[in-house]
Amino acid sequence: MHDHGVSLETLYQARRRIADKVVRTPLIRSAALSERFDAEILLKLETHQPTGAFKLRGAVNMLVALIERHGRGALAAGVVTASTGNHGRAVAYAASSLGIPAVICLSRLVPDNKVAAIEALGAETRRVGASQDEAFAEVERLVSEHGMTLVPPFDDPRIVAGQGTIGLELMEDCPDLDRVIVGLSGGGLLGGIGAAVKAIRPACRVTGVSLSHGAAMWESLEAGHPVAVDEVESLGDSLGGGIGLDNRCTLALVREVMDDHLQVSERAIATAMVDILQDEKLLVEGAAAVGLSAIEEHGLDVRGQRVALILSGNGVSLATLDRARALAGR
Ligand SMILES: *Cc1c(COP(=O)(O)O)cnc(C)c1O
Repeated sequence: MHDHGVSLETLYQARRRIADKVVRTPLIRSAALSERFDAEILLKLETHQPTGAFKLRGAVNMLVALIERHGRGALAAGVVTASTGNHGRAVAYAASSLGIPAVICLSRLVPDNKVAAIEALGAETRRVGASQDEAFAEVERLVSEHGMTLVPPFDDPRIVAGQGTIGLELMEDCPDLDRVIVGLSGGGLLGGIGAAVKAIRPACRVTGVSLSHGAAMWESLEAGHPVAVDEVESLGDSLGGGIGLDNRCTLALVREVMDDHLQVSERAIATAMVDILQDEKLLVEGAAAVGLSAIEEHGLDVRGQRVALILSGNGVSLATLDRARALAGR
């Protein structure tokens, strides 16, 4: 076991814990992309999860691990988080399917349709303040005053191990995989997949892809310690946000398992989203398209290789798709 707390053993534990709540997603060969790059391009369809993104894996693993360790009674006050996106949806769904109360704190700026979508997954929502920071302050209050349990979006070994079950599945479905290309923000997804892949097939290359602006993990790896960044609007909004100035797990893990790291432009994200829609008839969000963006924009030489791209989520509105099409010019 390493400092970051993720090992092959915790990955297999996670797989057992999540098996009946999370979809074992297909890995499909893209004929169009394989032909275009003279490679075997494989797509891991996390868009098939009931909440539309992989984050359910980490949330379910953490909640089941807490129940196993402390008993259901310890979670009677419920779990809490502040995400409006894929993590909030995952926590709401996971808690409801395990019969645990969940509160998702949201600022008053979050649109009503997003709030309704989270409530439809069985969670209570609480509107507080005018910013994400104020919503977070409410999360902290609920933890300290009401004994609720925080489910963090990435920086916990149980969250990372849950996301890492994707890596176990990849290794089973394609044991001679040459490369996996993964969108990178807080590092739960890449850290988990990388831990699995490097333990089972060290020769498989792990490539991370970050946004070109406001990429906290990029800056932090460069600086050698966690760095705060300004959040910028992006088609890859699920890749925005910090890594936590008190990061305990993912920065060290990403440094250990990642072989190379690329940044992609907004135009490249837009182009890849439209390509995936056109060629595969799959609608994915910007964060899920960045693997293809990296190959396209950086001209990665993948000839003759088996390359997996993680289609991590489908949280995209028609308005955002319109923006992507305009930017891609198609
Ligand atoms: C959260 C998320 C990511 C990035 O995951 P991290 O663990 O924060 O690196 C990528 N794609 C989608 C769709 C996400 O929701």
